[in-house]
Amino acid sequence: MLEKFSLEGKKAFVTGAAQGIGEVVALGFADAGADVAIIDMNQELAEQVVQKIKDKGRDAIAVKCDVTSPQDVDAMMDKVLEHFGEINIAYNNAGIVTYKGQFFTAEEMPFEAWKNVLDVNLDGVFLCAQAAGKAMIKQKKGGAIINTASMSAHIVNHPQTYCNYNTSKAAVWMLTKCLAMEWAKYDIRVNSISPGYVNTPLAKYADKDKLEYWCDITPMKRLAEPEEMVGMCVYLASDAASYTTGADMRVDGGYTIW
Ligand code: NAD
Repeated sequence: MLEKFSLEGKKAFVTGAAQGIGEVVALGFADAGADVAIIDMNQELAEQVVQKIKDKGRDAIAVKCDVTSPQDVDAMMDKVLEHFGEINIAYNNAGIVTYKGQFFTAEEMPFEAWKNVLDVNLDGVFLCAQAAGKAMIKQKKGGAIINTASMSAHIVNHPQTYCNYNTSKAAVWMLTKCLAMEWAKYDIRVNSISPGYVNTPLAKYADKDKLEYWCDITPMKRLAEPEEMVGMCVYLASDAASYTTGADMRVDGGYTIW
């Protein structure tokens, strides 16, 4: 049974893989046997992740790509296919939480702040999922697509105000279900993962008071470490999840129980 969790021989790409959850999951995919393309705007950090994967004896490439740009995403997919020959796993994870480091109440949010977060978190996921889906349909070998949603797809976070972020993540969850429905006939499974608060550079905006508050209202009383996302992603990417599609997996320390 455990063999079904292996990603041996699979080719994957991970967006937002230069740091944080994306980096750790990319390394986890490599540990499970996959070759991995590291997709990010930050080429310098992406190259460092590539080296870590090569040190594990797996193949890896870094591809500079802004996931909000259809041209960048098409070029990225071409490079990945040219290098690996095929794509079996796509993890669409790149996301942002603030606009230029700022949160806004709904009544004061500039349209650029609304649009920027939706562009990266929703359009970026759509464009990369579409590129991967097209390639997988052509290959006729099925595939696994994973999107990073968030517990914010299900609840409204507080005390911070970011209706743009929460809305983008709820939309990622709906998009996941739509793609799962449309592509089930191609044996392409599409699922999402919904982390709670995770100890990554993205969460660094929180001061000590906010962190204490978040931990207090989380049943497990702590933030997650990014490594705690790996098991779920490897499962969803693997043949062990062969009958799992259109699911959102909450990895949130119980935050959304109440
Ligand atoms: P992070 O900021 O540590 O890493 C995000 C990565 O995405 C960075 O390497 C960044 O360069 C890249 N990126 C940003 N915009 C991009 C773009 N337009 N094109 C390509 N790459 C881009 O963030 P993280 O905490 O690892 O978050 C990863 C995902 O998890 C995001 O979708 C985030 O919304 C989600 N998430 C995070 C938390 C948390 O508490 N950290 C909780 C729930 C969900």
